[in-house]
Amino acid sequence: MATNWIAGAERLGDGTIGGAMDLPKAGARVVWHTTESGDGDAAFKSVANYLIQNGSEPHILYDPSTDRIGQFGPLNESARALRNDGSSRTNRVGKVCIQIEVLARAKSPFTKTWKPGPNFRKLMGAIRSWGVPDAFPMGNPPAYPGASRRDRAIWLTTAGHYCHSNIPGNDHGDPGSISPKALFDAAPVGKPGVPVFPGKQYFKAGADNAHVTQLGKQLVKKGYGRFYAVGPGPRWGEADRKAVQAFQKAQHWTGSDADGYPGPTTWKRLFS
Ligand SMILES: [Zn+2]
Repeated sequence: MATNWIAGAERLGDGTIGGAMDLPKAGARVVWHTTESGDGDAAFKSVANYLIQNGSEPHILYDPSTDRIGQFGPLNESARALRNDGSSRTNRVGKVCIQIEVLARAKSPFTKTWKPGPNFRKLMGAIRSWGVPDAFPMGNPPAYPGASRRDRAIWLTTAGHYCHSNIPGNDHGDPGSISPKALFDAAPVGKPGVPVFPGKQYFKAGADNAHVTQLGKQLVKKGYGRFYAVGPGPRWGEADRKAVQAFQKAQHWTGSDADGYPGPTTWKRLFS
């Protein structure tokens, strides 16, 4: 089940900030921002009020110094922290476009000094529940000031994490060069030893990557080696799909839950 409201997040404002997505078939994504302010409870309150008065609410306000989290609106609707790209309503691109304002400054990347805790893990859990892969499709977050990369074709087609400095039609340079590894490592999936699900795009026709090998080896370990004449190896193939499907059926899953393509739930169960 995908999460719309993060359990335990403080509700900010009246809970209505946007509406339906314009391009729900574009991949699920996240956009990271920094508020260009200090952190702490006083800043949390004043920035939340400012964003509401200004009509530029993200979904989430997060304090990296205290792990405090607030939520302005449901994750399955649009937020308001981006400018349009011409006539394209950037806030409404994607299955979801989860926008996060972090109480920090772009010139001092918050992942160097932050103290993520249970609320950050809940946030990442909600993000992953929508199938957002642990990846930044435009590469490492651009440093501030001076750098940006705004590739419209990638933005309109690719699931994953983005920075405000990646969004076409926008000129802001936040959140600076935050570390993707720090973000993803701060919220391991499940118990220790369960690797983070890398994303569905690594397991499809034409895929050739180390995650496929990792998946295949685990399937062999769990007793599904009979599907492999050779391997398992890095190239996704019918043997992988059949082995995954047999594993899924063994969980009594049916239909699209047993199509042979792993998602976060299959991954977690397989590696638990
Ligand atoms: Zn921003």
